Amino acid sequence: MAADSGDTIFGKIIRKEIPSDFLYEDDQCIVIKDISPQAPVHLLVIPKKPIIGLSKADESDKQLLGHLLIVAKKVAASQGLDNGYRVVINDGSDGGQTVMHLHIHVLGKRQLVWPPG
Ligand code: AMP
Repeated sequence: MAADSGDTIFGKIIRKEIPSDFLYEDDQCIVIKDISPQAPVHLLVIPKKPIIGLSKADESDKQLLGHLLIVAKKVAASQGLDNGYRVVINDGSDGGQTVMHLHIHVLGKRQLVWPPG
């Protein structure tokens, strides 16, 4: 696993080296649509800080992690997810993480089942 996740696809998107439509951007994060949506609405909230994954975050990231969740709920509202939605962070191999740059999935506009696969 790389020591720094700035070289992932999300790092390139954040640095605008790869074109992508930002649904939201501020000084700490961006929100984009997932390229392979698993629900009618599937967004990714991605911090600009290249943290590899949740397990690599530390106490100094406390404000940022809270901010990402607040942004997640705001974009969920702006996308009309009034009937509920799911927020997911996959971490590491067992968690099914494929892009080693922390991100929060926001999924909605269909009935989601539990337990997840
Ligand atoms: P995870 O498996 O939790 O690491 O999630 C990575 C997500 O990134 C997957 O849902 C992919 O479909 C999505 N993804 C990969 N490349 C892109 C891209 N270029 N633009 C938007 N989403 C992407």
